[in-house]
Amino acid sequence: MTETAVIELTGLTKRYRLEALDTYALREVNLRIERGEFVAVTGPSGCGKSTLMAVMGLLLQFDQGRYRLAGRDVSDLDGDTRALVRNRHIGFVFQSFNLISELTVLENVALPLKLRGGVARRERERRAGAVLARVGLEERLEHYPHQLSGGQQQRVAIARALVGEPDLILADEPTGNLDSHSAEAVMALLAELNAAGTTLCLVTHDARLAARAGRIVPMLDGRMH
Ligand code: ADP
Ligand code: MG
Repeated sequence: MTETAVIELTGLTKRYRLEALDTYALREVNLRIERGEFVAVTGPSGCGKSTLMAVMGLLLQFDQGRYRLAGRDVSDLDGDTRALVRNRHIGFVFQSFNLISELTVLENVALPLKLRGGVARRERERRAGAVLARVGLEERLEHYPHQLSGGQQQRVAIARALVGEPDLILADEPTGNLDSHSAEAVMALLAELNAAGTTLCLVTHDARLAARAGRIVPMLDGRMH
């Protein structure tokens, strides 16, 4: 028996309907991501990369096709189950960091465990502290996001994505808001996490950054080829 893939998309189609106009953001996309892989999805603006990430992250429903996540068909889950599966299996990193400004670094990173429930506060903080040490921010636990540089904020977001030990981290243009030096550092961190076993799917339109991945998947006009 072959090992179960983390992601298996088959014939996935997503269209946006705006008044009379249909836009096909994804057209019969097939994609398989094995455990431990580092995949970079590349392509020009508007080709469907963010739609693909949102679908894989169970943030967006699709119109046709099947989606298996860690061996389970998640194509037709109801909203509550989608949220549970998302919390258990997926970590997100966004271009705009999406940290909560009223929470400290430690509280931001501990939040997914709080939402999951069943983990005592002390244990949540212990785990959050441990992943923050992994991303080199153990001295910043009580800081607030606005007190950090963009590169540091993105490392906090990566720690938050990691804390629940997800099967997969999805990163949509994670270096898009960073200067080239911080972008390199964030990419180096992602590559290091992958080398330690984390499965990663990254979206970028920067070919130089994509070259860090183990596999590059080009997209154009909603198709993968
Ligand atoms: P990328 O991330 O590669 O730039 P997107 O996935 O954001 O591409 O967009 C793919 C296509 O879907 C584009 O033509 C875009 O205009 C369209 N699109 C994206 N989001 C929406 C939406 N919420 N409503 C309507 N059309 C959308
Ligand atoms: Mg995008």
